[in-house]
Amino acid sequence: MKDKFYGGILQSDALLKYLLETSAYPREHEQLKELRHATVDKYQYWSLMNVPADEGQFLSMLLKIMNAKKTIEVGVFTGYSLLSTALALPDDGKIIAIDPDREAYETGLPFIQKANMAHKIQFIQSDAMKVMNDFLAKGEEGTFDFAFVDADKENYINYHELLLKLVKVGGIIAYDNTLWSSTVAASDDDEMQDYLKGCRGHIIKLNSFLANDHRIELAHLSIGDGLTLCKRLK
Ligand code: SAH
Ligand code: CA
Repeated sequence: MKDKFYGGILQSDALLKYLLETSAYPREHEQLKELRHATVDKYQYWSLMNVPADEGQFLSMLLKIMNAKKTIEVGVFTGYSLLSTALALPDDGKIIAIDPDREAYETGLPFIQKANMAHKIQFIQSDAMKVMNDFLAKGEEGTFDFAFVDADKENYINYHELLLKLVKVGGIIAYDNTLWSSTVAASDDDEMQDYLKGCRGHIIKLNSFLANDHRIELAHLSIGDGLTLCKRLK
């Protein structure tokens, strides 16, 4: 029952169910599972804002391969991707986690604490643009290994300029939901929910922008709801 809110882009629900149930859920950390279920209990349909378990595992593996130590999380909600990140960092790793919604963060926090990961996280209740500008002003340029951007879609393109400074050369900026429930490939008069219609144009613009941005190496993945990896080249 709690596994029914997927929000993925695979064309077959059966295939997504197979992927999650065969490979992802059996390997899911106990507190990630608890956090996911608590999110469904409280937020019902909108629990689909958590990254799915297979994407969480991909992020964890990527961070370990990169030996990431310091990351920035833009858009926390109840913290599924945040806890996936924390579990992948070394014990002295650090995550700056930004979201104006403290209540959602506190819904997931007991599970982050139970997993002994809270010491790696500095939660900042704020708008991300302000925090990024503050960090640049404090001389934090080039100090982050990785950024996960999963917040207000209309600002991704603005976050990109600031994150290209905050993340070091060779580091990764990851943008979530870049296939936007498949609507990036729909036509303007197709039926879709209002929240999808509202941000579709911003995601389409971002995707074209990133495809032409020679400051980064690009990989646009069809995992979850679409995940774009940008490696800073210069
Ligand atoms: N990464 C989370 C899901 C994030 S959902 C996970 O996978 O579990 C998107 C979040 O972005 C919401 O919690 C929302 O409050 C936050 N958000 C919206 N506007 C924001 C802004 N300007 N700065 C930071 N976070 C923002
Ligand atoms: Ca997301």
